[in-house]
Amino acid sequence: MAGLRRALLQWYRRNARALPWRASRDPYRVWVSEIMLQQTQVATAQPYYERFIARFPTLRALARAPLDRVLAAWSGLGYYRRARNLHEAAGIVLREHAGRVPSEPRAFGALPGVGRYTVGAVLSIGFGAPLPVLDGNVARVLARLSARPWSVRRPRDARSLWAMAERLLDVASPGDWNQALMELGATVCTPRAPRCEACPVRRHCCARALGRQEDLPPAAPRRAGVRVRRAVALVERAGRVLLVRREGGLLAGLWEPPGVELSDHEPAERMLARALADLGLRGALHATPARIRHTITHRSIHVDVWRFEPRPPLPRAGARLRWVAPDVRDVALTSLARRVLALSARASPRA
Ligand code: SF4
Repeated sequence: MAGLRRALLQWYRRNARALPWRASRDPYRVWVSEIMLQQTQVATAQPYYERFIARFPTLRALARAPLDRVLAAWSGLGYYRRARNLHEAAGIVLREHAGRVPSEPRAFGALPGVGRYTVGAVLSIGFGAPLPVLDGNVARVLARLSARPWSVRRPRDARSLWAMAERLLDVASPGDWNQALMELGATVCTPRAPRCEACPVRRHCCARALGRQEDLPPAAPRRAGVRVRRAVALVERAGRVLLVRREGGLLAGLWEPPGVELSDHEPAERMLARALADLGLRGALHATPARIRHTITHRSIHVDVWRFEPRPPLPRAGARLRWVAPDVRDVALTSLARRVLALSARASPRA
């Protein structure tokens, strides 16, 4: 084990990618990066992280910002519950821990959105606490090193993987060790075609010795996709577009053009006109050739974009409705809304 630890740590210290969150061990910044990197690729998260830290450089700044501003900074990254939890947790830390990220695992783990992985990552990197991590990359490396058919999605296997992560942890450098395992999984021990010949721990790897590196861990069963139909309306007035605030569900609080989800045979025009009337809008709907296919996790959303010419009187802007320029930046939009707004100039009525 000592040889494996030495080899991996040496490799990490020479080869670690220069990522913006690695420039600091400030627990708040580590925390932001770890939350962003859940369900988001490094290359995608990087500019968001830099903008987020520029806007909210300290936990205090984040805790004091209105949720709308935080969601706007997160807009486009998806999985908005992460941003809501982070904001709520920052408020709790400010009120109950004098604004300092708690270094005690139980206190930190009690915050919204902080699970065992986040506790291990933030406290090991930010405070040097001897705690392991287990994410998809680490689970794959461990399953291969031990040549066990463990899948992190099965609770029993996950327990075995956590136990192995704990045994292997380098308690003298837990932060570097955890990052080294994650880095190896992200850059060398990749899901397909792992680069074993370039791997610093190849001499310790049972899967490689058995020629099983491509079979482990076992592939997860594919989740069946769901097809969803949706119609949205571009309602424009004096170069500005109408947005509606979503209520309830995962995207609650985000803004998007008014629209409606349709069952298989529901007529788009009638249902959309009804949804617009519910918002107090009267006018004429025109079909456009614009179609968008948008995927969120296992939902494949097929969107028809309509143009709506409103007749006065128009409903008042307020907590639920607002008018914005199509290239608006500082509003928390859903990813689909961004795509619809980008179309707004092109979505002219059908001849
Ligand atoms: Fe992964 Fe290959 Fe390294 Fe084993 S030798 S840890 S399978 S990259």
